[in-house]
This record gives sequence, structure tokens and C-alpha cells, in this order.
Amino acid sequence: MSERGLILVNTGNGKGKTTAALGVVLRAVGQGLKVLILQFIKSGNGYGELEGLKRLGDAVTIKSMGKGFIYHKRDEVSPEELEKHKTAAQEAWQTLVDEVNSDKWDLIVMDEINNAINYDLISVDEVAHMLRNKPKRLHLILTGRYAKPEIIDLADTVTEMNVVKHAYQDGIKAAKGIEY
Ligand code: ATP
Ligand code: MG
Repeated sequence: MSERGLILVNTGNGKGKTTAALGVVLRAVGQGLKVLILQFIKSGNGYGELEGLKRLGDAVTIKSMGKGFIYHKRDEVSPEELEKHKTAAQEAWQTLVDEVNSDKWDLIVMDEINNAINYDLISVDEVAHMLRNKPKRLHLILTGRYAKPEIIDLADTVTEMNVVKHAYQDGIKAAKGIEY
């Protein structure tokens, strides 16, 4: 009998949501699991972790499907911009659903998916439906701030990263190899 796959959520305002997920990826690869990382939001250029993951060879597949979408206030984004990101997120979502249902993977990381839900780029109901109907043995990790209660309800393990301090608050720029 195969083990039941778990749903993990890494959320909160503190640093470490994506990198903790990648720690699990490293562990999973060591146990011979096949891993897919699907990035919403991020566009996939200039990230040290992606270069590092490539060194793991065939054990990890990465699909970066975002358009670098990060904003704080909705009215700072033009309708055209928003439409572009919506289209990208919908494509990422369709890819994700197909990959989940393919039953090819042991672990899928959905990086920044919580943000995509929060910006209304993808529907929380559809994500919840996918979580309920995923292949039994598949492990999933969802990252990003402000995880919705519907998602938290369906998860087995939820961790909230809390900021005690962040170098950024001292005006220190994102450090190569630490932040990206
Ligand atoms: P990481 O990728 O380092 O695990 P994360 O996934 O928890 O971080 P995100 O919200 O995805 O955090 O933001 C990614 C970038 O923002 C990273 O460069 C991260 O260091 C930085 N960051 C995370 N939390 C904070 C914070 N509280 N203040 C400023 N920058 C932050
Ligand atoms: Mg992150």
C-alpha cells in the first residue's frame, strides 16, 4: 500500500516559505521521489535556487510560469498589466491541473500559489477542488503569504513564518545567494 500524500502549506510574512519548500525537495530527491516545482508569479530568471536545482539533474523538473508579478496596491497596476498576469496565471493553473492528474510526480511544489489566489489570478474554489481530488499518494506543498482558510483547512501541515527581524528593514538590499 502506498503512503497517503500530504498537503503542506508555508505561509506568513517571514522569510523562508519558498526555501523551506526547497529543503523538502532536497530531502525528497534523496529518497528517490520525482519532483515538479511549478512557479506562479516568478518568471524564472536570475534565481540561484533554480540554478542549484538544475544541478540535481532529472530528479527535479521546474516550470516557471509567472510574469514576475508582484505588487502591493491593486490600483498601481494597469488593467492591461493585470490581464497579462491573469492569462499567465491561468496557463500556469491549467498546467498544474494536468500535471497533478498525470500521476507522474511524487511531490509537486506550487510556489507562490497563495499570492496568485490572493490577487484573484486563480480561483480558491478550483484550488480547493484540486486538493480534494488529487491522486492519493501525491505530496503537495503550497507557498505564499496569506494562505486562505479554505486551503489551510484542507492541509495536513501548515507553517506560518513570522518576521522577528528582516535585514530589509535595516535598508539592506536583497543578498545574492541568500534572497535570490
Ligand atoms: P525565501 O524565498 O527566502 O524563502 P519567502 O518565500 O518566504 O522567502 P517571499 O514572500 O516569496 O518570501 O519573498 C521572496 C523574497 O522576499 C526573498 O528574497 C525574501 O528574502 C524576501 N523576503 C521575505 N520575507 C521578507 C520580509 N519580511 N521583508 C523583506 N523581504 C522579505
Ligand atoms: Mg517565496
